[in-house]
Amino acid sequence: MGSTVFKYVYGPVPSRRLGRSLGLDLIPFKTCSYNCIYCQLGNTTDLTIERRNYVPADDVLAELKEKLASGITCDYISLAGSGEPTLCASTGKLIAGIKEMTDIPISVITNGALLYLPEVRRELKRADLVIPSLDAGDAALFDYVNRPHPDIVFERVVEGLIAFAGDFSGRLLLEVLLVSGVSGLGDEVKNIAALAEKIRPEKVQLGTVTRPALEDFACAVKPEQMKKLAGLFTGKVELLPNDQPVVSVLDATSEATDADILNLLARRPCSLEGIAQGLNLHPHDAAKRLKKLLGERHINSHRNGRTVFYKRSGRNG
Ligand code: SF4
Repeated sequence: MGSTVFKYVYGPVPSRRLGRSLGLDLIPFKTCSYNCIYCQLGNTTDLTIERRNYVPADDVLAELKEKLASGITCDYISLAGSGEPTLCASTGKLIAGIKEMTDIPISVITNGALLYLPEVRRELKRADLVIPSLDAGDAALFDYVNRPHPDIVFERVVEGLIAFAGDFSGRLLLEVLLVSGVSGLGDEVKNIAALAEKIRPEKVQLGTVTRPALEDFACAVKPEQMKKLAGLFTGKVELLPNDQPVVSVLDATSEATDADILNLLARRPCSLEGIAQGLNLHPHDAAKRLKKLLGERHINSHRNGRTVFYKRSGRNG
């Protein structure tokens, strides 16, 4: 069994969009510029727009080097985790350091709130794929769904997205997450679609709530309604599937430790299949480990629809 307990590197996470995505967590739990009603991580405890070196970049790169040397396979290295990654002031340095280390493409999953800052746009330029969010088409819905830091102005967020999209030579996907009865309504989606037309991403990825949400009232839009709403976008739009990703368990010979499972579940609630796929564990082995970790109260479980999600205990939400 591997013995290193990683602080910043977690996963690979099974991702609907990225296949097996090795996560880098650059932000303390749960530091974010938003406090979205649908957040799967729980309540934002540090609502901030202050960019700081929350983690030592050299330590993150050293961990990544060790993880890659262990022979894991992944499709992306993703800057994402316990909060908003662009709050990390060394994002640019980290992307440059990863590029020196490996050819594995880098993705940044961001709420996009700070893209109005020229330095953030500059730092993300060397990423291969950036996936910012846009969940509302006007300031009132933005305030309701994303509950941003008071200094964040909706119009400026949109301007930042347009400016970044116009300048970025990598792939840009715009994630739009719809909440039933809130943003998952025709008129609201028309407003979002009008802004997406100005941003001009490669495509819009349209999703709904699939994991246990922070607020009970943040519920999934029904699949038939999602299909209709997708038709309101003029550009290319992809409906994200509600089900768990199907990623092959390569040969299920992973040396993932219990600490690796806890690391993953601290950043992202996952189903048994998701854990097995992400960490390349045999499902029986994953089930045994989850049972043990549940018994030891290191994790807890929540049912969402037909799927049971496991989450690290001791986190809020
Ligand atoms: S969903 Fe993302 S942007 Fe929204 S509060 Fe959670 S971590 Fe922050």
